[in-house]
Amino acid sequence: MSTEEFDVIVLGGGPGGSALASFVAMKGHRVLLLEEAKFPRHQIGESLLPATIHGVCAMLGLSQEIAEAGFPRKRGGTFRWGKSQEPWTFAFTKDPTDPYGYAYQVERDRFDEMLLRNAAKKGVDVREQHSATELLKEDGRVVGVRFRDEAGVERTARAKFVGDSSGFRSRVSGLVGERVFSRFFQNVALYGYYEGGKRLPSPNEGNILCAAFRDGWFWYIPLSDTLTSVGAVVSREAAEAMKDGHEAALNKFIEACPIIAEHLAPAQRVTTGKYGEIRVRKDYSYCNTRFWAPGVALVGDAACFIDPVFSSGVHLATYSALLAARSFNTRLRGELDDERVFQEYELRYRREFGNFYQFLMAFYDMNQDTDSYFWSARKIVSTEERDNEAFIRLVAGRSQVDEPAFYEGAEFFDQREGFGRWMEQTLNPEAVRSANPRASQPPRRVAGGFDATDFMAGFTSEIAQLQTQARLGERRGAESPLEHGGLVPSRDGLEWEVA
Ligand code: FAD
Repeated sequence: MSTEEFDVIVLGGGPGGSALASFVAMKGHRVLLLEEAKFPRHQIGESLLPATIHGVCAMLGLSQEIAEAGFPRKRGGTFRWGKSQEPWTFAFTKDPTDPYGYAYQVERDRFDEMLLRNAAKKGVDVREQHSATELLKEDGRVVGVRFRDEAGVERTARAKFVGDSSGFRSRVSGLVGERVFSRFFQNVALYGYYEGGKRLPSPNEGNILCAAFRDGWFWYIPLSDTLTSVGAVVSREAAEAMKDGHEAALNKFIEACPIIAEHLAPAQRVTTGKYGEIRVRKDYSYCNTRFWAPGVALVGDAACFIDPVFSSGVHLATYSALLAARSFNTRLRGELDDERVFQEYELRYRREFGNFYQFLMAFYDMNQDTDSYFWSARKIVSTEERDNEAFIRLVAGRSQVDEPAFYEGAEFFDQREGFGRWMEQTLNPEAVRSANPRASQPPRRVAGGFDATDFMAGFTSEIAQLQTQARLGERRGAESPLEHGGLVPSRDGLEWEVA
């Protein structure tokens, strides 16, 4: 059988793969996408962020189709979290007329299929039930893939670049670098679907509800007026309860979390059809030591994954897809060199991952239940991550350009002591004020000296740029490089240019 030739081969048709393939095909390049499953297929990760909807999906031309799909609108998150016993709400925007201040809760089988079919419309050669089995290499460079087609026949295809977006099960990530795990976020998720659960009061009925309890936390995601995705995120130790069966374990966790038990009081678990199963995912967080090697780049979960509490997975997958597409497109135009464009890719993706890592660490630190194994192991002052130099090396620094690229593990955490308290004051000031009426505004720096205000400005800047890119396109203002001598997006946002 002859070997086919492409500019880019993309492995995996999740949001990362579909977005990557589309952005490359939009520049007129020949793209093959290999997807192991037949879509629609189940995936977890239903709660999205505005940057995905109003940034990447808008750039992909999907805004209208998604708006017409009937997904519940998510205005933000409602949390039973931190010191406050009462649920409190974080809204994406304070301005109710902001046309970009919302996201959606999506059934991932439907959402992912929209992205995949859209890739085919953009000219990508999409092949489902095609499983990549091996990378082809020549002189140390990846030059194509070996794969099995839907009939089980082994084939090969060659390309100038391969994008691996085959998710957390990626077999390519180990060839590019090493997957290093976080010790802070070593969680296991157990989830199922319910009909007839209660909704939060309007206007927050479409919000995700996240509730901390002794053994971990719950997500409660409305997927329609009546269907709800419910998942418990617990420690490995608490997951032991699963040996009595998934249903018994999930019920036990629900009983231990009053707000979730109350919301589910009128509900029935779905026991048939696509949502009939209780599923388990180890969502251990990780980051690869390298995101690219000659001829190949890792995108989305194939490169890194961080705890799901702030719904960042699909954002990171689709944002990294756009960054990687810029690198591929620039090289396919014959400009710059691999080192320059893929270093830019890795810098920006690692920075976004590191920002979410730090944000989430502070978010977990808001819960200070000293009687709980789960929460006491996840305090900034005592986390086992302090000794996890290999992981800290991958995520530390880089939220601001002038931050050092590497801290020693303990130093990194010492600097962030009090970050959880700062986060609570920032996100839920009313609760902090009602507990202590003399509480002041959150200070600029936290107790350990870390500049939390600067961090938050850096955290939101890239997300804002993404939405500005989608909204204004070529009319937007010039961007500055992240680092001195770094690259900036081209006017259409699909390639890199020297600043
Ligand atoms: P995937 O969506 O995993 O897609 C990878 C694709 O590659 C799959 O379709 C797979 O079939 C295919 N594939 C695999 N191997 C091969 C192969 N060899 N050849 C060809 N194809 C292959 N994110 C959110 O945004 N919001 C949430 O609320 C959220 N909740 C989560 C809860 C839990 C418990 C977990 C674990 C994750 C959650 N996430 C959430 C994260 C989200 O699921 C992922 O980050 C997101 O799906 C990553 O997209 P991706 O395209 O990188 O990978």
